[in-house]
Amino acid sequence: MDENQSKEWNYHPNLPLADSSPFTHLTEPMFLLNWIYKNWLSLSERILMVAVAIVLWFFVYPSLEETKDFHFSWIFEIYFINLTMMILVAGSLHYFFYIRKSQGNTLKFDKRDLTKNNRNFLFSDQVKDNMFWTLTSGVFLLTAFQVVTTWLMANGYVPVNNFSSNPVWFILVLIFLPIWSAFHFYWVHRLLHFPFLYKRYHALHHRNINIGPWSGLSMHPVEHLLYLSSFCIHWIIATHPIHLIFHVIWQGPAAAMTHSGYEDLLIKDKRRLALGTFYHQLHHRYFECNYGNQEMPWDRWFGTFHDGSERSTEETRARKKNMY
Ligand SMILES: [Zn+2]
Ligand SMILES: [Zn+2]
Repeated sequence: MDENQSKEWNYHPNLPLADSSPFTHLTEPMFLLNWIYKNWLSLSERILMVAVAIVLWFFVYPSLEETKDFHFSWIFEIYFINLTMMILVAGSLHYFFYIRKSQGNTLKFDKRDLTKNNRNFLFSDQVKDNMFWTLTSGVFLLTAFQVVTTWLMANGYVPVNNFSSNPVWFILVLIFLPIWSAFHFYWVHRLLHFPFLYKRYHALHHRNINIGPWSGLSMHPVEHLLYLSSFCIHWIIATHPIHLIFHVIWQGPAAAMTHSGYEDLLIKDKRRLALGTFYHQLHHRYFECNYGNQEMPWDRWFGTFHDGSERSTEETRARKKNMY
């Protein structure tokens, strides 16, 4: 067994997990510069998503002119684009990793395959169940938030930013959105772990102990509503439709990437695309830990950080016992 394998995991990154949050390194300029460089000045996943958002805005999604009044045609257009995008991203990741098994077990966290013949899942099949929740209320509510926000922007009911008049703000909002999303996700997610809400709404997502691309947006509709309420930020601060589309990609298809069950996509043995994080994989295995992600420091500050070690597992189990 090599150092990145263990009894529990087919693959894990070097442990204990390093603290990569920029918020715990605010007094270290080199760390912050490196964080900016990695995320925003190199060909990162974020830059890729912004590029896709720009193309979608100029060539695919309806313009603000067209969306001034609620009309079935443009609403359906947005719905259809989102449905296609979700099927393309989650579907191709699933096909690549779990049907063709093109990367074998390299960088795959869990030893087990996705679950079949298990009555906990709709149709007794994890993948079909996950597809169902993703493609019904997932895409529907993702679209609903986008439609309402686009309509608000088109009518000037919310502040709209323009790159040409304020490029600095435009860039700041791009950098801010993933941070906002991580902040919002942590708190909404903690709320969902209160036993009352957990049993009714969040347990559905957590039936996926071993996760795949379709698990990302596989949630109870109430969880969808809470998770996607992160879009309300566009009702408060000045943003551009490109920001909104970037945010849609971030909350929707990107959730399929982060739940793919593999750390990175390899092309010719080189890590080319960051996918799942061990951080969230630990949350799916041990539940009462790592409610947020690496971006925000909350888990570390509130003592719910699981760094992948035995000791963290024991602490998490003790916490779980106290909660229920
Ligand atoms: Zn959870
Ligand atoms: Zn998850």
